[in-house]
Amino acid sequence: MQDVIVPGSTIGILGSGQLGRMLALAARPLGYRIHVFSPEQNTPAGQVANVEVCAAYDDLDAVRAFARGVDVVTYEFENVPAATAVACQEFAPLHPGPQALHMAQNRLREKTFFAANGLPTVPFTAVQSLADLHNGIVEIGCPAVLKTAVSGYDGKGQIKIMHPDEAAAAWLSTGQVDCILEGWVAFERELSVVAARGRDGRFAHYGVIENSHANHILDVSKAPANLAPAVAAQAVEMVQTVMEALDVVGVLCVEFFLTGGSQLLLNEMAPRPHNSGHLTIEACVTSQFEQQCRAVCGLPLGDTRYRQPAAMANLLGDLWFSQRKGAKKQSGQSEEGRGGPDWTAVLRLPHIKVHLYGKREARNGRKMGHLTALADSVEEAEKLVREARALLGK
Ligand code: AMP
Repeated sequence: MQDVIVPGSTIGILGSGQLGRMLALAARPLGYRIHVFSPEQNTPAGQVANVEVCAAYDDLDAVRAFARGVDVVTYEFENVPAATAVACQEFAPLHPGPQALHMAQNRLREKTFFAANGLPTVPFTAVQSLADLHNGIVEIGCPAVLKTAVSGYDGKGQIKIMHPDEAAAAWLSTGQVDCILEGWVAFERELSVVAARGRDGRFAHYGVIENSHANHILDVSKAPANLAPAVAAQAVEMVQTVMEALDVVGVLCVEFFLTGGSQLLLNEMAPRPHNSGHLTIEACVTSQFEQQCRAVCGLPLGDTRYRQPAAMANLLGDLWFSQRKGAKKQSGQSEEGRGGPDWTAVLRLPHIKVHLYGKREARNGRKMGHLTALADSVEEAEKLVREARALLGK
């Protein structure tokens, strides 16, 4: 058993986006120092870290030097190269371990793992050639979705196939790399469960969160999801199965489709805090980020109870370019992430909390921040957060 990484120690984070930033912001009050490693400078996480190391992930000397300077390493994105993870482990514990990373990095491996553990998924098959794709379409039927096995996110590297005639074009559009073909599910709802597992195997979760996506990007999350208790319990149990099978120490999120009122299908997992769990910052006694800090440091897991129902709405870069009613078009509003929407419109609202990630450049589809609303009911929280976001632009 490793020693507890006590407050005052240094947590190393691979990756420097908003998840790293919110982890840093949660770990600092507990007295931890934060070192961030990524190929960029002046990053969302780096801005709030004690040390920001700027080097390529495959610069293993730099990775080793970074790991030597910290007491534990975690990450905020799952595409950390395997060699980088191994180099870190020479000098510091890495949580979650390489097994979870390996599984989450490849959609085919991930779904095969789910299925091998008796967890239900959409129908899927491996595609490594156009012939495989034709056979897959015969097996699975249309509509189906072809996804690159690695490095796809927010709908990138995905193409929906409505008719077998579209196979060749779909295969070309993926760049003819290893893919997974999935049956297209007419799901009723999208759900997620964020959970944590400690070094001692203790498990804590935030129940089921309900998500809606726009253009394949998470748009709004709300919790607790209005779901039959038995289905919610089943979702949580499935996530515990995943975390135990991979011996995860840290936070992990599983995304589900709900069909037929009560059938859960696992879509994907991420061995880190998740966008759908951002509402835990205000809504829960312990946020998903503080929980990640506690888990990877070997501290007792925190209380995950909700203080109030909550909803979260993402703020995409599009808002920086959209015209507000009656507002004059501003020039240069994307630079350094300044300008953009009129924040005072939402800062006035008593039930809304504003989070901005300090990204220097706004781009369409880029996650720049989020809003959270707390209310007496989930429906009210969702209404408040959507109304608040509408004040910022389209
Ligand atoms: P993913 O990158 O797999 O999370 O996909 C992004 C979004 O695309 C999901 O949240 C769903 O809204 C949609 N999607 C992905 N796969 C499927 C599928 N097999 N059937 C229906 N919708 C899907």
